[in-house]
Amino acid sequence: MKTLLFIACITFLSPSVNGAAEGNWKYGEEENWPGKCTNGTRQSPIDIITAKAEKSPEWKNFTLTNFDKDLKSREFKHTGKTILLDLEGSGLSIENGGLNGTYQALQLHFHWANDSKSGAEHTIDGKEFPLELHIVTKNGDQEYGQQHAVLGFVFKVVDKNNTKFDSIAAEVPKIKAEDAKINIDVNIKSFLPSNMKVFYRYYGSLTTPNCDEDVIWSVFETPIEISQYQLSIFQDIHFSHGYANYRSIQKLNNRKVLKFEAKPGETSSASCLLYSSFSLIILLFATYML
Ligand SMILES: [Zn+2]
Repeated sequence: MKTLLFIACITFLSPSVNGAAEGNWKYGEEENWPGKCTNGTRQSPIDIITAKAEKSPEWKNFTLTNFDKDLKSREFKHTGKTILLDLEGSGLSIENGGLNGTYQALQLHFHWANDSKSGAEHTIDGKEFPLELHIVTKNGDQEYGQQHAVLGFVFKVVDKNNTKFDSIAAEVPKIKAEDAKINIDVNIKSFLPSNMKVFYRYYGSLTTPNCDEDVIWSVFETPIEISQYQLSIFQDIHFSHGYANYRSIQKLNNRKVLKFEAKPGETSSASCLLYSSFSLIILLFATYML
């Protein structure tokens, strides 16, 4: 019985977490999506209305551990529903930012469309963005409803190429075909916004079937900047369902959206630095002891 339950859980969770369900659900046919997608009450994405967002409690800003690490040979693949970089076992994790405990990074993936106006899943004050990055993390010790924490970043088109983002963008054409996969070297922190001081927090769901209501969302205010050319690389990807892979905006219902703003001087990078310095001190101490 336990084995059966285990298999059932794996079957249920794995596809939706990967944003790549094996099922025959399609973008453009959301009314037929299974699971919680059509009858849930805390679904994602949402339109974040900044004027209605309440100030968060006094949290520490996120600590992003190992995000500044040069990752080697990570699998980057076209799943049929998105393009996804595998981060399992990479040692990347997040803490603080109002979360309980440490959440380990599982993967990151993207949502976009083939016009340059829409494509991102979250909107801010009704404003649409052309691309959105989701970094999916998990802490299995938390209760269901809080086991996944996803960091969401919208993108904005500017005149210049974001060369830091080329470690991803330049590789995308190599996985244009469904199920194509390659291994890439990447440094996640290098292309995240330098200002990660403000984010919006709400309790929501995965945005792909089965739309499990098990995600603590953090959507950052500062977009990642890319050029029109870099965006067009994503827009060239064709899925069997078409060119767009974003879900429509869901009802907020009775949920609150909180706004976190780091205290002046406090940044997530500073936390990284603090962590690195602490590690260095431990290392020096260990060396001395040896
Ligand atoms: Zn996503």
